[in-house]
Amino acid sequence: MEPIYLTIALDTPLDRLFDYRWEPVADEALPQVGQIAWLPFGRQEIAGLILAVGSQTEVPADKIKSVLAVRHQCPALDSRWIDLCRFAADYYQRPLGEVAIPALPKNLRVPKATSLDRNLKKLAKLAPAQDASAVQEPALNAQQQTAVDVISANTAFTAYLLHGVTGSGKTEVYLQTAARVLAQSQQTQVLILVPEINLTPQLEGNIRNRFPGLQIATLHSGMAEGERLLHWLAAHTGQARIILGTRLAILSSLPHLKLIVIDEEHDPSYKQQEGLRYSARDLAVWRAHQLGIPVVLGSATPSLETWQHAKAGRYQKLELSERAVQAAVLPIVKIINTEREKPSEGLTQRLVSAIRQRLEKGEQSLLFLNRRGYAPVIHCDACGWISNCTRCTAHLVMHKLDKKLRCHHCGLEQRIPRACPTCGNIDLQPLGRGTQRLEEGLQVLFPEARVFRIDADSTRLKGSAEAAFDTVHRGEVDILIGTQMVAKGHDFKNLTLVAALNPDSALFSQDFRASERLFAQLMQVAGRAGRAAQKEGGNASEVLIQTRYPDHPLYHALMAHNYPGFADDLLEERQQAAMPPFIYQALLRAEAKELETAILFLKDAANCTPHHGITINDPIPMTMTRVHNVDRAQLLVESTSRPALQAFLKEWITDLRALKSRVKWGVEIDPVDI
Ligand code: ADP
Ligand code: ZN
Ligand code: ZN
Repeated sequence: MEPIYLTIALDTPLDRLFDYRWEPVADEALPQVGQIAWLPFGRQEIAGLILAVGSQTEVPADKIKSVLAVRHQCPALDSRWIDLCRFAADYYQRPLGEVAIPALPKNLRVPKATSLDRNLKKLAKLAPAQDASAVQEPALNAQQQTAVDVISANTAFTAYLLHGVTGSGKTEVYLQTAARVLAQSQQTQVLILVPEINLTPQLEGNIRNRFPGLQIATLHSGMAEGERLLHWLAAHTGQARIILGTRLAILSSLPHLKLIVIDEEHDPSYKQQEGLRYSARDLAVWRAHQLGIPVVLGSATPSLETWQHAKAGRYQKLELSERAVQAAVLPIVKIINTEREKPSEGLTQRLVSAIRQRLEKGEQSLLFLNRRGYAPVIHCDACGWISNCTRCTAHLVMHKLDKKLRCHHCGLEQRIPRACPTCGNIDLQPLGRGTQRLEEGLQVLFPEARVFRIDADSTRLKGSAEAAFDTVHRGEVDILIGTQMVAKGHDFKNLTLVAALNPDSALFSQDFRASERLFAQLMQVAGRAGRAAQKEGGNASEVLIQTRYPDHPLYHALMAHNYPGFADDLLEERQQAAMPPFIYQALLRAEAKELETAILFLKDAANCTPHHGITINDPIPMTMTRVHNVDRAQLLVESTSRPALQAFLKEWITDLRALKSRVKWGVEIDPVDI
């Protein structure tokens, strides 16, 4: 028999494929494109993806190595999945293997096939419940009905922007559209992406109740590896019909995909911020286009990129302009000027009485403070010492409950010093206010109330976030304090007051996207109020914003619930200033022990490749320059032409490699944090 050679993609920074020899074991079947192989690479053994099977190779016979095993048990990945990875690799300027291999579950990339075999067996036994009866679906209102009809009648590619105010029943549109699409055939698959699964456990429950006969796979980073493989296989074999996941699910294998839904499409968590810095939303649109299927982007506050696509007619806009529950109305948004009404313990008198009114009627209040810990910094009045992190350009945050000072960037932890480390003064003062301090103040102010805090610290343990939200839903909480974690998706039925305590800092951020994000966040958290009809004798739902800038246009747009007005104004500003979405950007980041070294590298980088039609800005230190003893700088590259930028980046990256600098660097396409 002639020798067989396999061309394989590997997870290495080398931008090429690798040939291996295949020597069959006993009567082993011929390997196929899309199968996974286990093979030697340097001194290691790693997994690879087979991209071609042939009888020739350029590699000399004494150099070629043989694969150790081919995972025949796992059905081959199809060409459309490989093309998706190829597109992502090309677009984000990475070798194919660096995209495709990490997209596979870890337990597929191990020396033994034990976990694979076990999970395939498990999968075979997972017969969905047959005669379970589905929870009745509610009758849709006219706008919801139109949305469902339009989307499910479409069997070609269209990107839909489902723009619906908070509480307008977007979820119901997703579910009923999914139901129609799933009814098209016994195989059809639907992918639903959400920002973070443990913050929206309600959705998973709703889907299970609505589709009791169907297998549902969930995919997110919090899963144990074995479980992850099981769910990935369920999707890959086509057994799972609904796949609910976070951004990483966009790279899963879905052979019968017919609809993609992206809930809260504006959410920053759709952008991966390390490794392959992809946008799951953008890849979803590409994937829908590739397959010729509809993709639904839902939000009350779409990203400006998406909003602009809709305005230009590239995306089709579907509007839900009213709350779905009859008699539930959008809350009244009011501004409290904290220059005039000085807060005490972070709360103005007006806010305190509003909370009291809720307590009297047995209604819930939500206080939004996007800063965890007790105080963002402690300091010494006598000598001016402040608690800085020794490894980062950041303060150590005071955590009173566990008596620690903690850096939220590098994880450095110290006991709270009993006295000032420089002058010995024992009267160290916390400055500012985090959620823990607010909680303490509220317990003193309202000793009879059940005060409850939800933030990354209170929900560190697995499952604790779900448990915490359940407590709120069961009505066992009067005053809920939370960071952005509480803003998302929750349908709190008894909540009639939402207050934002100190949202101003984002108004003057250097990042041009900060105000877009602030608006989305405030609109979303405000949207937790008044989701049920006002109770008889109860309070009307309101949102109170404490601010020093009561005349800021952002707050005025919020009062008017006017996202379109706000977005159009921002878009005009962006167009005039030549910023995204009107131009395209890429960022070269550099990290070194000394800032100087990073900047020097970026200066070389700016000059190493000819660039016509490309603007290369000056290198600058990142806003938070030092993290964990590493200094960071960046170089922003822009163009009005996406193809020109892509072509330049390809050449540039080759030239950057040739510089052979010891500086650690990376290129990010469409950066969102600048
Ligand atoms: P959104 O995601 O747009 O903020 P949700 O999907 O959470 O809104 O819906 C808000 C509330 O309205 C939920 O309690 C949901 O059950 C309810 N709802 C949605 N559609 C309808 C409908 N057609 N009739 C009655 N209630 C509905
Ligand atoms: Zn001191
Ligand atoms: Zn630090």
